[in-house]
Amino acid sequence: MTENSGWWARAQEVLPGGVNSPVRSFRGVGGEPFFVDKGEGAYLVSDQGKRYCDYVMGYGPLILGHAHPQVVEAVRAQALLGLSYGTPTHREVLMGERIRSAIASMELVRLVNSGTEATMSALRVARGVTGRRLVVKFTGSYHGHHDSLIIKAGSGAATLGVPDSAGVPEEIAQLTMTVPYNDIDALREVFREHGRNIAAVIAEPVAGNMGTVPPVPGFLETIRELTQEYGALWVSDEVMTGFRVTYGSVAESRGLEPDLITLAKVIGAGMPVGAYGGKRQYMELVAPLGAVYQAGTFSGNAVAMAAGLAQLSVVGEPHFYETLTQRTTRLAEGLKERARRHGIEVSVNQAGAMMTLFFNGQSPTNFDEVAASDHERYRRFFHGMLERGIFFPPSGYETCFPSWAHTDADIDMTVQAADAVFRQL
Ligand code: PMP
Repeated sequence: MTENSGWWARAQEVLPGGVNSPVRSFRGVGGEPFFVDKGEGAYLVSDQGKRYCDYVMGYGPLILGHAHPQVVEAVRAQALLGLSYGTPTHREVLMGERIRSAIASMELVRLVNSGTEATMSALRVARGVTGRRLVVKFTGSYHGHHDSLIIKAGSGAATLGVPDSAGVPEEIAQLTMTVPYNDIDALREVFREHGRNIAAVIAEPVAGNMGTVPPVPGFLETIRELTQEYGALWVSDEVMTGFRVTYGSVAESRGLEPDLITLAKVIGAGMPVGAYGGKRQYMELVAPLGAVYQAGTFSGNAVAMAAGLAQLSVVGEPHFYETLTQRTTRLAEGLKERARRHGIEVSVNQAGAMMTLFFNGQSPTNFDEVAASDHERYRRFFHGMLERGIFFPPSGYETCFPSWAHTDADIDMTVQAADAVFRQL
C-alpha cells in the first residue's frame, strides 16, 4: 500500500476505476496510486508531501522533467494572450516547420490533440490513398484506443484481429491483421495472402508499449520493402519514440523513409498534442485540400504549441540526446549489475531514453517473450522502489522515461535503492 489521503475513495466514487486512463489505477501491480500535487524536475511531490524520483514522466512527454522553466514561461506568456482562437496562428506554422525540418518526409503536417487522434487520422489517410480496407499492426504495440487499433491477435502467428475491447464491432476488428513484433516471416506471409488489400502497416519503430522492445535487424526494412512492393503505406507510429530516442524520427535516423509518421508526447511537452504527416502527395488528400475529412476545435492549440516549441528548442541543442542516452545507459547498467550481484535474472532493453527492466534472463524481442518475464517479481520490485521514493512504471509492460532533469546523482540513488530491493526479492 502507498499513502491513503482519502482522495482515492472519492476518486472511485466519481471516476471509472478512480482514474481517467487505466494504467494510473495500479491494477497491474496492486495497491493504491498516490495523488500528485506538483512536479519539480525529476521529482513528483504527493499530496502527502512525499517526494518520488519519477521515471514515468507523464508516460513520455516530459523529456525535460516537470515544470521546466522555459516551458512554463512559454505557457504563461501565451496564456496571457488567450488560450485558443479557432484561427490560424504563427506558432502552428512554426511547429509544422520545426517538425518538417527535423523529419524530412513529413512534408505536410497536421496537428491534432493526442497520439490516438494522430494514428486514427493517419489510417484514414492510408485508406483514402489506397482505397483499401485492411491494416496490419503488431502484437503488443499500442497506437491509441480507436476501433481499428484496439485489436489483439487471434490464434496463430499472423491472424485476423479480434476486438481487445467490448464495443468494437467484429466487422471493424476483422479489418486489422495482427503479426508478432519482429516476426519478418509472418509479415511476409500476411502480404503474400492479403497484400493487395492492405492499406497500411502501422508500427512503432521501437516498441514501447510492451516495455521497450527494439526492432531486430531487417524488421523495419522489411516493412518498407513489402509496403512498397504491394502499394501499401507504412505508418511509423513515433508518438513515443519521436524526439525521445533522437531528434526527430527513429525510422528516418535509420535511413528509412516511412510514408506517414505520427507524433505526440514530446512535441507537446505535457500539453495535449499530436501530429501526423508525410509526403505531400498523401497529405494533400486531407481536408480542406482533399476528401479525407479530419478536424478539431483544439488542434494546434495556442498554449500547446507554445509549450511544445519551447521544449523542442531545448532538445534541439547539441549533444542533448547523447547525454540523455548516456544517463539512461548508466541506469540500465546499474540495475543489471546490482541484480546480478544478488543472483536475480534480469535483462534491460534500451533505445535512447527509453528503457525497461525485465525479470527475464533473455532480452524480450516480442510480446510473448515480455509476457514470459516474471511479472510477480516486477510487482514486488515496483512496490519496493515506491517505498524508497522512486516511481517506476506501474506495470512490467511499460517503459521508463529518464529525463534531462535526472542527474547522475538521482540515477545512482535509484541504483542504490534497487540494490536494496533486489536483496529482498
Ligand atoms: N501510439 C503510441 C506508440 C503510443 O505510445 C501512444 C500512447 N502511449 C499512443 C499512440 C496513443 O497516444 P495518446 O495516449 O496520446 O492518445
